[in-house]
Amino acid sequence: MTVSTASSAREILTRLHDVMASRANAQTKLNQVVNIIGEATSSEVCSLYLLRDGALELFATRGLSQEAVHVTKLALGEGLVGSIAERVEILNLDEAAAHPDFAYKPETGEERFHSFAGVPIIRRERAVGVLCVQHTEPRRYEDLEIEALQTVGMVVSELIANAGLVDGPESAANRPASTAALRLAGQKLVDGMARGFAVFHQPRINIEHTVAEDIEAERRRVYSAFAKMREQIDTMAAQAEFGVGGEHEEVLETYKMFAYDEGWSRRINEAIDSGLTAEAAIERVQQRTRMRMRQIDDPLLADRMHDLEDLANRLLRIVSGQLGTAAQMGLRQDAILIARNLGPAELLEYDRRRLKGVILEEGSLTAHVTIVARAMGVPVLGRVKDVRRLIGEGDLLLLDANQSAVFVRPSASMEEAFEAKLALSQKRRASYAALRGLPPVTRDGQRITLMVNAGLRDDAAALDLTGADGIGLFRTEFQFLVSATLPQRERQQRLYRDILDAARDRPVVFRTVDIGGDKALPYMRPDDMGEENPAMGWRALRVALERDGLMKAQARALLEASAGRPLHVMFPMVSEPWEFEAAKAIFEAQRTWIASRNRPLPTQIRYGAMLEVPALAECLDLLLPELDFLSIGTNDLTQFLFAADRAHPKLAERYDWLSPAILRFLRRIIVPARDHGVPVTVCGEMGGRTLEAMALLGLGIERLSITPIGIGPVKAMVRSLDLAALRPVMEGWLANPPRNLRQELSRWAEDHGVELA
Ligand code: PEP
Ligand code: MG
Repeated sequence: MTVSTASSAREILTRLHDVMASRANAQTKLNQVVNIIGEATSSEVCSLYLLRDGALELFATRGLSQEAVHVTKLALGEGLVGSIAERVEILNLDEAAAHPDFAYKPETGEERFHSFAGVPIIRRERAVGVLCVQHTEPRRYEDLEIEALQTVGMVVSELIANAGLVDGPESAANRPASTAALRLAGQKLVDGMARGFAVFHQPRINIEHTVAEDIEAERRRVYSAFAKMREQIDTMAAQAEFGVGGEHEEVLETYKMFAYDEGWSRRINEAIDSGLTAEAAIERVQQRTRMRMRQIDDPLLADRMHDLEDLANRLLRIVSGQLGTAAQMGLRQDAILIARNLGPAELLEYDRRRLKGVILEEGSLTAHVTIVARAMGVPVLGRVKDVRRLIGEGDLLLLDANQSAVFVRPSASMEEAFEAKLALSQKRRASYAALRGLPPVTRDGQRITLMVNAGLRDDAAALDLTGADGIGLFRTEFQFLVSATLPQRERQQRLYRDILDAARDRPVVFRTVDIGGDKALPYMRPDDMGEENPAMGWRALRVALERDGLMKAQARALLEASAGRPLHVMFPMVSEPWEFEAAKAIFEAQRTWIASRNRPLPTQIRYGAMLEVPALAECLDLLLPELDFLSIGTNDLTQFLFAADRAHPKLAERYDWLSPAILRFLRRIIVPARDHGVPVTVCGEMGGRTLEAMALLGLGIERLSITPIGIGPVKAMVRSLDLAALRPVMEGWLANPPRNLRQELSRWAEDHGVELA
């Protein structure tokens, strides 16, 4: 073999380019390819195996017996060639027969050859063939020679994909590392089951051309893509301080490190020198890194590898101009979306009729994207490790969020079991639907108020579907999140009126905008709100009181929309009593203004505060006399109580809602509120889970506002619960908490015939 510099590799590529541009048929081209490589590398043998019908078939050879072509076949994992393909690994041996995987195929006549080097031909991270060279003299091939073979392998991969020589694009080329059926575990973020096909939020790029026509032009393309990517990363880092896109700081730091890594851009440049297009060069370097990483078993490095993959994909998208997300490109039917993470606004871009489920590599229970998905009725499985490597675009998926699992490319028996379960869960849902007209009354006669959380116009339909008592939390910021520009007062008013119309005589509690945190607005630039710790930063009422133009417009919209009927309004993130008073004063000023114009007013205005910041609990005695109602937002409250970011994937499962700290804290709020005659609702996600809801009732909560899909199961729980029996037990547990309160509660529920979902 004589390949020792990039220019020699380039010579091979130039010759390959001519072959590929010719009109010959695919087989003739492959015959020419093995000849060129064999000749250029002075190897006696050069053979090409391609994956067809699940086996590696000898497609072309120079040096082995021609009789063996299309006859010799190796299973994945069989022989040296099979093991290269299975492990997507290079082999470089001076004595092939001495390797434990060596499998002798007499028809090839290969016994004369001693040294052997083979590289996988990769498409979408999976081997679709093997290219190998053999030599009579026992010697090891040099690294540069192997690299040249790999580069050639990329071009061959283009040739065989274009000629459709390997297993079809859906089944093979787009497939991930393995094609076998898999069960992947994750964390249930939104309940539900779905059957659908994998769609990547950031679609993968198909590399169409691998051999460069003009090397300098390719270099310029890569340069400008790098510049653009760095600019994007810098913007993301600036926005992350405000929480846009949910990208995590640590990840962004790594992105930044790679984006500015000289070594990476140099290696891509070298690959371009060898004659590859910009896209192929990026992919080539990525393949090499993947192979190296596979040999290092270090979870920390594996994490970094994900980041580099993300970035390489981003670079590929920029360089190829294929920029849109799957939402912008039009979603297929029955889609199950795969992403590392998503922002709430990104999720809202998807057509909810086509979107059947979401699978995230990160994600947490109370992140707003999860709340939005719950509102959309889309099951979500989070924290699925390596999902973007293990699932291929278009793969059939059976998502069983209830079981915290997804079945990938399921076997027939998996499908059968899934269908049976799905039927059962539909039956269960039907039984919940049958409860719609029945009141949520406990076995001992306590009437519980069950309301829904909402935020989108369509959500009002949930009232009739579930038979809920009203909307206990209307997140008005959702309208702001889905709009490209700040919604004007008239648009706000229209939405509020529609919601009130749909609710008829049932109450709707409008929460004034809670933006900031992980709910960032695309039209509010980070410069306006840049900060290090957005969840504890300038958000919700803090923004509203300072930017009071926003609040005034919303107050007018709400007051006018509620003309002739009662208005319930509540303020998020009240931390000190004066904030509630200031917010109320803004509403009252608007009321006075409307009255002075003799325009119709609401029949009654009821003002409430959300208790989400623990500090407020200490001053509740000062605030309670001012309040018409109080609503506890357990999502934010728990993040502040435990100092645990609600959107942080690593903290997603760390603290339990059923911990003594939370339950005792809630109790401290409930008691004085009751003494002041102020009704208390819990409106966080906690209340939508049956066991947690049971604990809340045990604490003395009588009003829950929960996700619509929770109404059926929670009502079934309420109707099977003897509340008078639970309360003293709960008191005992609060005084002397058992080691595992969740376990005790479950056991109690089981012993007392409480229906839990
Ligand atoms: C909460 O914090 O519990 C809450 C209901 O509000 P959000 O989830 O919108 O912050
Ligand atoms: Mg909140």
